[in-house]
Amino acid sequence: MTIRDGFIGAVGATPLIRIHSLSEATGCTILGKAEHLQPGGSVKDRAARHIVLTAEKEGKLGGNATRELVEGTAGNTGIGLALMCRARGYTCHIVIPDNQSAEKIEMLRALGAVLHLVPPKPFADQANYYHVARRLAEERGAFWADQFENPANAQAHIDTTGPEIVAEAGTVDGFVCASGTGGTIGGISAYLKSVSPATQCYLVDCEGSSLYNYVTHGSLDATGSSILEGIGIRRITKNFATGKLDGAFAGTDRESVQMVHWLLEKDGLFVGGSAGLNCVGAVKLARKLGPGKTVVTILTDGAGRYTSRLFNDAWLDEKGLRPRSASDLSFVS
Ligand code: PMP
Repeated sequence: MTIRDGFIGAVGATPLIRIHSLSEATGCTILGKAEHLQPGGSVKDRAARHIVLTAEKEGKLGGNATRELVEGTAGNTGIGLALMCRARGYTCHIVIPDNQSAEKIEMLRALGAVLHLVPPKPFADQANYYHVARRLAEERGAFWADQFENPANAQAHIDTTGPEIVAEAGTVDGFVCASGTGGTIGGISAYLKSVSPATQCYLVDCEGSSLYNYVTHGSLDATGSSILEGIGIRRITKNFATGKLDGAFAGTDRESVQMVHWLLEKDGLFVGGSAGLNCVGAVKLARKLGPGKTVVTILTDGAGRYTSRLFNDAWLDEKGLRPRSASDLSFVS
């Protein structure tokens, strides 16, 4: 064990956990990168650190430049950025849709971020949180983190997550995860393919998102919506385009919620909905590759951020998502 230097030094080097139940059910070794154990509680701490450090290096933040940062975020990037800003003495403005979980919004407030809550709107609408954040940064002369298009996001995973996975897992036969900004899947798949072109890299996409259709037949068609937070998008970002993908799976809210409950009941792993979808993807990829392979995915964040939804029977019933008893893996089709 080594001593880590402050918040910045504490980001990364997360454990790679062998998920017993899924490994036994598939005959593969299924490994989850435990990003829920990051200091800010999610995979997005890596992007937040890299975006801030890169902006400082480029003279866009700190020093003689502005000491204010603005970002539009569904929550986890905001939490990472709010902590980074505290560690560096910057003011952090967060524009967040007001349908995100109360836990994440309260946490951002507690961390000292200046919150700008906006109603959820489609991307084409100038009132969408992404455009509101861009305009706020322009008005204030602040640095706009722009996690969707800022290449420092995927670069964080090319420089850290990808190399950590290879160092710990050795041969990686398959990698799968979902996409929000695309930084995680873009950066990790690009790195894994550069080390070993044989590694099969797959997207698992949620309902309401365009990326499954885009990867499988090149169109951005999408229908429906998802209760999963932080993932799903209807456009191709620069960070997603960094990726090198072999294919895609579609996963449902039902499968993801059931997986969250399964992982708690069978493995003592308490992870959020996108991590549930990622594990659904890992089972689908393991079944596709066949027994004996090593499949890696990302445990994106913890379920503590979503207890009022994912562990609330009334909320689950309202959405028609209350899991059947987690007795087998038949819920993953
Ligand atoms: N899961 C959760 C819970 C997230 O907050 C995010 C970030 N939006 C993701 C997954 C997706 O990560 P990325 O932005 O790197 O695609």
